[in-house]
Amino acid sequence: MSDIAAKRSVLPPLDAQLPWLLPLQTALTEAVRSDRLGHALLIQVAPGLGGEWLAYWLAARLFCTVSAERRPCGDCVACHRVLAGEQPDLLRLQPIEESKEIRIDQVRELAAELALTSHGGGRKVAIVSPADKLNRNAANALLKTLEEPSGSALLILVTGEPSHLPITVISRCTRLTIPLPRNPQLAEWLRAAGDRGIDWDSVLSVLGPRPIDALQADTGALIDLRRETLNALEQALRGALDPVETAEFWGKEDYALRLACIETWLVERVRHWAASGQGAAEPLFAALEDLREARQWTDTPVSKPLALERLLWRINAAATTRRPA
Ligand SMILES: [Zn+2]
Repeated sequence: MSDIAAKRSVLPPLDAQLPWLLPLQTALTEAVRSDRLGHALLIQVAPGLGGEWLAYWLAARLFCTVSAERRPCGDCVACHRVLAGEQPDLLRLQPIEESKEIRIDQVRELAAELALTSHGGGRKVAIVSPADKLNRNAANALLKTLEEPSGSALLILVTGEPSHLPITVISRCTRLTIPLPRNPQLAEWLRAAGDRGIDWDSVLSVLGPRPIDALQADTGALIDLRRETLNALEQALRGALDPVETAEFWGKEDYALRLACIETWLVERVRHWAASGQGAAEPLFAALEDLREARQWTDTPVSKPLALERLLWRINAAATTRRPA
């Protein structure tokens, strides 16, 4: 994503209240208390909702030297070390910057580390996030560790895309998941956690249900981008937009954000046209199909302007089927 959407995500503090994760925190607390945590967890939470934070929260709960019961204290040396990435018994596996994937040599290194005795005499914990970035060989190597867990090691896999993981890996983990919270609930949380004056509903309509990213985003720029995109789409519907020029401009940066704006607008239009009989919704349905396809191209070298151009021509064509209100 672009600069305005995602500076590198910073984890919320350990005492943050993320109500949608509370059922998982309760279940994990109970599992720790009754010593039923097992060797591998799969936290299946969409990106931007705190899945990775939950993994760190649990690690801190295990290493915290003060809080014996429910939550990590967030304030002792152990808790600080966890968040700072300085806890020697907490390992982290993430994609190597250039390759954007987690590779087999990284997994082998992790497995070797996990086989050693822990520095503090307690558990060794490894957080793999986003686990869907494990490439095929890496996932196979990880499977070995999952099948023959060493001592008291705990693996925590975090992903929003479990379908990208081999079923053999998933079946070795205890799965933890939550229903996707709705945007109004998240906007309410953002109004309490962030600036009340910001139009969080609009921010979430561009970013999707990613409240933690929303808190760190350039909200002013996001709202401007949304306004500008929606205005241009209204123009397209009047046949007054140049699809080629606009697609060229939109394809250069913030592609995913533009697509999110277009989707919100299309869904709203379809609903409105269907209710008011203002126009045949078929061209707009076709545009929604194009949009889904265009989204699959987000992280590929496929020409973004071309994908957008097709979409904008389709919306332009819808103008001709429209009846005057
Ligand atoms: Zn602590």
